[in-house]
Amino acid sequence: MYDVVIVGGGPAGFTAAIYTARAKLKTLIIERAYFGGQMAITDQMENYPGFEAVSGMELANKMYGQATKFGAEVEMAEVVELDLYGDIKKVITREKTYEAKSVILAMGASPRKLGLPNEEKLVGAGISYCATCDGAFFRDKDVAVVGGGDTAAEDALYLARFCRKVYLIHRRDEMRATKILADLVVNTPKITPLWNSEVEEIIGENSLEAVKVRNNKTNEISKLDISGLFIAIGYIPNNELVKGKIDLNEWGYIKTDENMRTNIPGVFAAGDVREKTLRQVVTAASDGAIAAHSAEQYLTGREL
Ligand code: NAP
Repeated sequence: MYDVVIVGGGPAGFTAAIYTARAKLKTLIIERAYFGGQMAITDQMENYPGFEAVSGMELANKMYGQATKFGAEVEMAEVVELDLYGDIKKVITREKTYEAKSVILAMGASPRKLGLPNEEKLVGAGISYCATCDGAFFRDKDVAVVGGGDTAAEDALYLARFCRKVYLIHRRDEMRATKILADLVVNTPKITPLWNSEVEEIIGENSLEAVKVRNNKTNEISKLDISGLFIAIGYIPNNELVKGKIDLNEWGYIKTDENMRTNIPGVFAAGDVREKTLRQVVTAASDGAIAAHSAEQYLTGREL
């Protein structure tokens, strides 16, 4: 029987584990793919405090080492079912059922992909799903953002502050983003919107060199020579395990209070899988620390 089982081994999960293990709670982290989550596939981070630049993989390894040093156990397995009601929770993988007095859900979210050849290969070499994380590497360069929602609008505005030119490639002729952001985008001289446009081809061997864009009204193809392509076509929360079992917001993110408590006693959520405004490693780590503290309070009967 574990005091805390943490589902997901990204920065939220590992930070939670560092705190719970250090508090002498019997802790297990279960991760299905690779430790570090999205962080592990981030080439360089310049916005994690304390590191002028660090690779996501290096930070993931450090978090892993720190959590296990304090006694957290880690398991590489896919959780297939959760039984979260009652005092004893069950976390079920294909091989085993783990029992826990509390559970921290830290399954993260996945950026929606365009699904084009070369897309996966060039992630970290010109293709990014996070302008706030990677934008600074493209100072004075020409870049493009794909999407027409609030994220795409914010990304384009952010990149326009230091990139030479920003194309906004959107499949329709009006943005889905809130009017104030959409107006700002069209009124920013450095941003060139390409309406009714879809990325047809991603070109580049070792790094991104260009994209081919098709106008879906005229079928005209144009080639944009760009160093960065920021894909902002939405995120998909990894909520498959809790859909229909826990309160989610309208976009499928887990609802929590500011102490990371979900609507189920003893069940907490942290990181990108929960409802929040800024999805970054530093905010995931913060959530993890708070969730761990709340779990400890719950287990010792000191919950507010
Ligand atoms: P979103 O609102 O779902 O917008 C996704 C955009 O990508 C849409 O314009 C969509 O086009 C386009 N798109 C989707 N799939 C595509 C594909 N396969 N190829 C090309 N384009 C595609 O996603 P989001 O911008 O990440 O925002 C998610 C939620 O968070 C939204 O509700 C948003 O309001 C909220 N949010 C709020 C703020 C803020 O308040 N500051 C900031 C960020 C996000 P269509 O328009 O044609 O469907």
